[in-house]
Amino acid sequence: MENIFFCSANIESTLKEWLNKQSCSRVFILCDENTAKYCLPKISFLQGKGLIFQIPAGEAYKNLETAQQVWSAMTAQYLDRNALCINLGGGVIGDLGGFCAATYKRGIDFIQIPTTLLAQVDASIGGKVGIDFEGYKNQIGLFASPKAVFIDTNFLETLPEKELLAGFAEIIKHCLIADKEMWDEISTKSWQEQDWQELVKHSVSFKNLIVEKDFQEKGVRKLLNFGHTIGHALESYFLSKNEKLLHGEAVAWGIIAETFLSYQKGFIEKEDLEEIQDFIAFQFKESKKWLSDRDVDEIVMLALQDKKNQNNEIRCTLLSEIGRGIIDVSVEEYELQEAIFYLNEFSP
Ligand code: NAD
Ligand code: ZN
Repeated sequence: MENIFFCSANIESTLKEWLNKQSCSRVFILCDENTAKYCLPKISFLQGKGLIFQIPAGEAYKNLETAQQVWSAMTAQYLDRNALCINLGGGVIGDLGGFCAATYKRGIDFIQIPTTLLAQVDASIGGKVGIDFEGYKNQIGLFASPKAVFIDTNFLETLPEKELLAGFAEIIKHCLIADKEMWDEISTKSWQEQDWQELVKHSVSFKNLIVEKDFQEKGVRKLLNFGHTIGHALESYFLSKNEKLLHGEAVAWGIIAETFLSYQKGFIEKEDLEEIQDFIAFQFKESKKWLSDRDVDEIVMLALQDKKNQNNEIRCTLLSEIGRGIIDVSVEEYELQEAIFYLNEFSP
């Protein structure tokens, strides 16, 4: 069970108090250029606490080269096994920093201080850490739990709107697979009108519950993959073309495509499909992409290579109704292709 602190009142004192109880020898703080600028000043006592290592911002740096730089910095500082790594940033910092900490000297403790909405509701919870490799997302990594997670929605004040919206996609996913009531609540408001504090708490408790039941993702945790088979393929495809599509944006469009699959399989009604697609397509209209036949073929190829697929069979998490997900649904290649083509049906 993860040790999660919601500290919107005062993260400094909560963190300080927690750190005082730890017996770590040294502190290593990992941040990126933006979190160093906008988030570190909100926990200013950290600046005198240990080495601050800053990397450039962005998914492109969640790679082996940056990991090597982090390990080198840890080595140069003579960090021993009792050191603590503090990951201050979004999912990139959390995944990369967690990966480096979990592998340095066979693993040192780390804590997550997620500063994006996406990292607060999703990436920082659940102990998956890793890096991208040879064009594949999260290809190298492991399960390793942080010693604690400190969540402060005040960090969201400086987050660009596009990033906030991307995090909203994971909240939408959580509602669709597990909580119809919450879906009804969020789907009547635009993303600008949402109560992030309430939604972050709701999403974190839900994700934590799932992870507790199935840490290694052998069963129920696969629910969280809804929207991600196609979402990841879209994300990898546009990353390879150097066309920016954020993880959360890709997931939003992945949710529409996989909701369409749920409809094609006869699990949900046409009205359900329309309700979901209309809300999401409108909120995410800025990230809409037009997909040519060739684009679709390549995205299908990427989805087929997705690590979650066993024996060349595509298994997806779909919806059995609004508010309930269903795991391990076998999907044919042509069905996947149709679902991706379906994304062209929305006018840009
Ligand atoms: P990110 O870490 O790249 O952050 C997005 C941008 O926001 C960056 O430019 C960052 O510098 C900036 N930023 C962060 N906090 C800020 C703040 N408070 N104010 C201003 N700017 C700020 O991206 P992300 O969306 O947080 O995370 C995406 C990553 O998370 C992907 O690599 C994805 O694979 C991973 N992820 C992991 C899990 C998991 O379970 N481990 C789950 C979901 C996503
Ligand atoms: Zn995700």
